[in-house]
Amino acid sequence: MPSDLVIVYHRQPYEEVEVNGKIEFRENKSPNGIVPTLKSFFGTADHGAWIAWKLADDPSNPDFERVVEINDAYGSYTVSRLPLTKEQVSSFYHVSSKEAFWPILHSFKDKYNYDPVDWPTFREVNWAFAEAAAREASKGARVWIHDYNLWLVPGYLRQLRSDVTISFFHHTPFPGADMFNVLPWRREIVESLLACDVIGFHIPRYAANFVSVARSLHDVSVLERMPVDPSLISEGTALSERNAPTRIVYQGNEIGISSSAVGVAVDFIEARANDPAVQARAKTIRTDLKDAKLIVSVGRTDYTKGGVEQLESFERVLEANPALRGKVCLMHVSVSANRNMTAYEDVQAGLEETAGRINGRYGTLGWQPITLISRAIPFDDLIQYYLAADVAWITPLADGMNLVCKEFVAARTDCDGVLVLSEFAGAAVEMSSAVITNPFSYRSMDLAIVQALEMEPQERQERMKALRQMVRRFSVEHWGQTQEAAFKQASAYRKSKP
Ligand code: UDP
Repeated sequence: MPSDLVIVYHRQPYEEVEVNGKIEFRENKSPNGIVPTLKSFFGTADHGAWIAWKLADDPSNPDFERVVEINDAYGSYTVSRLPLTKEQVSSFYHVSSKEAFWPILHSFKDKYNYDPVDWPTFREVNWAFAEAAAREASKGARVWIHDYNLWLVPGYLRQLRSDVTISFFHHTPFPGADMFNVLPWRREIVESLLACDVIGFHIPRYAANFVSVARSLHDVSVLERMPVDPSLISEGTALSERNAPTRIVYQGNEIGISSSAVGVAVDFIEARANDPAVQARAKTIRTDLKDAKLIVSVGRTDYTKGGVEQLESFERVLEANPALRGKVCLMHVSVSANRNMTAYEDVQAGLEETAGRINGRYGTLGWQPITLISRAIPFDDLIQYYLAADVAWITPLADGMNLVCKEFVAARTDCDGVLVLSEFAGAAVEMSSAVITNPFSYRSMDLAIVQALEMEPQERQERMKALRQMVRRFSVEHWGQTQEAAFKQASAYRKSKP
């Protein structure tokens, strides 16, 4: 059945669980996260389609279920699963995306590895996504493509279908031309993106960077700039960010440039945080800590998240402030998502070594300075730690948005707790009432965490109140509405064209 909304996202929109030898599709347990938000868009469509990949040992196997019909709370929609071999997944996802694009997007030139990239495979996989989207889309449909591993899909899809409205959302940062143009495939990537009707980013700075990159490679002009909402402008807001481009033109086609920060499901998180069982567990954590303060840090094991740098800051702070020894515990959750990749294994080894050294240096029988957790904590359990924490210490070196800091704030229905946030998380644009820190500076990092630990209750509450207003205002629902509005405007423009 042709679909008037096609979502192209590399992951499938459900969990596959084996029950008595049969695969069942289950709703992801938490309505938090991006997948449920994307699926909620099916409510705006007559029929929806989702395109993802699935590992297939033998793609020609007739038993491989390429298309699955789903009926869930979000309506009925088709999921096309592109069968990719292990080699294709490794090349397209682990090598091209994670070894070449990811470091450049996050401005880590030294981690960039271009030699193993097999560009023909990247093209081939992106072509398969574009073909599947073209097959599923009804006339004039909306096609919504997500993230850098599908960069070539818009261009291919435009070759196949001139009638559809294409929107592309970047969930990562987007760097300036000096960084992005390191990629040898820069022209082809940007040319593909310029086939979109809308290109979306989290914050105006990434949008401005993209436009400067596009102008460095192609004949692109800026048609319109929009001043950013003044309540979002803080001291550190760059000039380019205050007046980011919102409309550009390339080869006679107008392209909308949208900046809209993804948020969290505030009502859901508040309801979980207000659950008496969750509150009781948070209270027990606090009682167990006696009079020690709890700092919570949550992220993935990735060099962009700055985990080792954070532990080193904690070590310096303990060294310089003997009074804090025995009085503060750091729970550092760092989930290893990409095992078997050297860059991530190095981070894991660095975390273990640093945490071990600090615990060895300062720990006593009754006090362990750092609890390092390398496995994922279920979301419901995270909330009890958010509630029990005195400080959330979120200091990525680069991060497209960062949802953990917003979840922490949403969970603090008691209007207490301090957020220390890196200025290089996209979220810092909205969260200027946090204690903002520069994770590349020892001084800034160390001062910020001490300031947070020593903050008086009144200041804590004032800051948290302001943060909670922002998190509520820029919720995930708000993000959905801005995306829908951008789509509507773009569809109207495409339909009005001769
Ligand atoms: N998360 C989780 N359990 C963990 C660690 C993280 O459920 O042990 C979730 C966290 O609640 C958040 C997401 O993983 O929703 C991480 O999103 P974020 O944007 O902060 O970082 P990303 O990993 O996408 O770069």
